[in-house]
Amino acid sequence: MSENVLITGANRGIGLEFARFYGARGARVFACCRHPESAPELAALAAGSEGRIQIQPLDVTKPSHLANLKAVLNNTPIDILLSNAGIYGQTDASFGNTDVDAWLETFRVNTIAPVKLAEALVENVAMSERRVMGFLSSKMGSIDDNGSGGSYVYRTSKTALNMAVKSMAVDLASRGIAVAALHPGWVLTDMGGPNAEIDTKTSVAGMAEVLDTLTPDGSGRFYEYDGSIIPW
Ligand code: NAP
Repeated sequence: MSENVLITGANRGIGLEFARFYGARGARVFACCRHPESAPELAALAAGSEGRIQIQPLDVTKPSHLANLKAVLNNTPIDILLSNAGIYGQTDASFGNTDVDAWLETFRVNTIAPVKLAEALVENVAMSERRVMGFLSSKMGSIDDNGSGGSYVYRTSKTALNMAVKSMAVDLASRGIAVAALHPGWVLTDMGGPNAEIDTKTSVAGMAEVLDTLTPDGSGRFYEYDGSIIPW
């Protein structure tokens, strides 16, 4: 089966491992990143992929970049759309210390851009065999799981993303598109930091399994990388 996968933020961290994972299993990968000219690891991966991994420029907050990507893809089916790009936004966003500009920018990247990506490429997903969209969220966006407070900027951006994921699951069900919010675990990346619990390989293999087994019935849920359901 031929399989096309599109990944945002594919130049480092979890996104780079997604590109490696799907490229290794023979998929055609559209690996998007905002600065292809300074993405050496992704460039090396693409160079060794016999053309399977194709790098596409995409700053997810830029409508003109999305329009360009849509034009490049034209009628290419996208089996798995992975909205991975994200930012923490403000590290010290405690009560009384929240920064409005950082908060708005974090919403632009983590909440609004994933929906605009889905809106732009929904036809490509709809014409594919698998028809799956995965959105990298975070357990920090779970209201139920919030026992420590703080982190207003990042937490709220992912909580709002979760709501958008649920709405997209409802809105796209009639087109056979399954949509999942994904928590990758606490992962060793620039964002996760050196104390994180799992490596990118473990995280990505787990999330890929979640997406491979995602059915229409399982759409509109929030999954941990090991397949367990996280309360909203
Ligand atoms: P990371 O190492 O910081 O990488 C973030 C990626 O997002 C980079 O490729 C970055 O590109 C890209 N990005 C940021 N803003 C962008 C924009 N405007 N346009 C396009 N790309 C943009 O983070 P990560 O740990 O791999 O995280 C990936 C996803 O998992 C994020 O959504 C994150 O919130 C989520 N997550 C991570 C953890 C964890 O423990 N690591 C836990 C929960 C959730 P540049 O190199 O150009 O900046």
